[in-house]
Amino acid sequence: MRWSPLLRQILEQGNRGDNNLCIILDRHKAIDKACSELWPMVGRRYCTKHLSVNFKKMFPGPKMWKLFWLAAGAYSNFIFEKEMKQIDKHRPGARLWVANLGEQERWSKHKFNPNLKSDVNKIDCVENFNAAFGIDRTRPVLTLLEGIRKVIMVRMTTRRELCNKWDIHDICPKIVKRVQMLCTDFRTYLAYLSAPSEYEIVDGKSTLQVSLNHHTCKCNQWQLIGIPCKHGMRAILNSNLDPLKFVHEWYYVKRYKMAYGNGIRPITDRE
Ligand SMILES: [Zn+2]
Repeated sequence: MRWSPLLRQILEQGNRGDNNLCIILDRHKAIDKACSELWPMVGRRYCTKHLSVNFKKMFPGPKMWKLFWLAAGAYSNFIFEKEMKQIDKHRPGARLWVANLGEQERWSKHKFNPNLKSDVNKIDCVENFNAAFGIDRTRPVLTLLEGIRKVIMVRMTTRRELCNKWDIHDICPKIVKRVQMLCTDFRTYLAYLSAPSEYEIVDGKSTLQVSLNHHTCKCNQWQLIGIPCKHGMRAILNSNLDPLKFVHEWYYVKRYKMAYGNGIRPITDRE
């Protein structure tokens, strides 16, 4: 349990630990145990990239590989169950193996906490950090921590400078682009108004309920990430409304500025 003192310190100093946080980990047992003891309210997700490697060893073949990713990436319970049935059909017993990975909220998107407005289920960002640390990774722990401090200091400053010219009332540029792309991505959908701002959207053989009043779609993607899904977008444009008004406030520039507002101050070497 060497992780406990470090995690305890982070929690105490950050004064956090509520269920509006989530840790994505590689299912390392010691970290998992430390999180259960110290951050019981904080959500946990397992990196699906790591899980998929183990799954592949147990159940090789491109079909099983594809089904695993479909189940892990399913936004709705309906799609999840559909893929799990396929998994079991192709390799009886595979479903049981998958069930032993832990609660579904740890690895499949359909059970993720919708309050977080994030569907991230990989730790690519950590691997990017690892690459950025370079040679420091092989050095003693204090040198490694010093390397981490420098990388974070520079990264936060770069991002703070990036958003200097952005208007605090706007949505971050990358999200605006994403919404603009979504606006052209649903031409075949049909929209039927059932009540003010309530729609049925027909997507091929599927019919989904969309509520512009509650910012929800039966596919669950909108609730999970806070950006309208294709079905939601179809309903919004059918009502001649601005799609950007339906993006969650966590994507606004003011939130970005808050996240990177406090930089790390430079430290003079003791010698
Ligand atoms: Zn949808």
